Amino acid sequence: MNETKINVLNVMFNSVTKENILNILTKRIAENKKTFLVTANPEIVMHANSDQGYMENIQKADYVIADGIGIIIGSKIIGQPLPERIPGFELMQELLKKGSESNWSAYFLGAKQEVVEKAVETIRKQYPNLQIAGYHDGFFDWDSNMIQDEIKKSKPDLIFVALGLPRQENFIAKNLAKFDKGLFIGVGGSFDVIAGTVKRAPVIWQKLNLEWLYRLIKQPSRWRRMLVLPLFLIRMLKIKLKG
Ligand code: UDP
Repeated sequence: MNETKINVLNVMFNSVTKENILNILTKRIAENKKTFLVTANPEIVMHANSDQGYMENIQKADYVIADGIGIIIGSKIIGQPLPERIPGFELMQELLKKGSESNWSAYFLGAKQEVVEKAVETIRKQYPNLQIAGYHDGFFDWDSNMIQDEIKKSKPDLIFVALGLPRQENFIAKNLAKFDKGLFIGVGGSFDVIAGTVKRAPVIWQKLNLEWLYRLIKQPSRWRRMLVLPLFLIRMLKIKLKG
């Protein structure tokens, strides 16, 4: 098991492949260990660098993996290449598959009510042996402990939190101590993709590492958020130039 960590603007990435991390997570789930995993893209790294509270929460994660070609390019620029991009959506699919094979249970938190319902319905059909511990939409009262109590009681093996950044990592970090077990992972807009309300880029775009461009074309309102990509790469180049 490779425990090497690569520092990308103070976010410590685990130098792992998708297969490595899946093996690690499967073992931890079998041992009922509690795990907080962050799938970080340049947006997360840049946000953490402008929000100290968010940075501290990311630093509480047991594992941080590289979601997004920008992180891979950035790690190459500083001469410490991470092995491969691990899209959070793919990791989620792999975990659901393993969950169905091993009778794990899963809880789904986030997105609009009709989206999370549809996503759970699709997952039930696709992964029939996965136990659904519960689900809740992502527009809830943060001062209430209702959802946390439900998760604690139902003891799921997997907890997918689709609240977008920074809410999902903040929610997990803030509440982690309340839970006894489970893999907690922020999955952004994945429920929307599973429910079919948002489409993932065609495979050819994914293979060409152009998923970000496809998203930009489909949701032009994201352009402002995407400005962080070039800014991120400029910061990595500056680090390289400073030696
Ligand atoms: N979302 C939520 N609660 C909120 C805000 C957002 O559940 O208070 C959901 C939203 O419905 C979507 C997901 O979080 O399903 C991801 O949102 P967004 O696209 O803004 O985040 P990103 O994936 O870009 O991080």
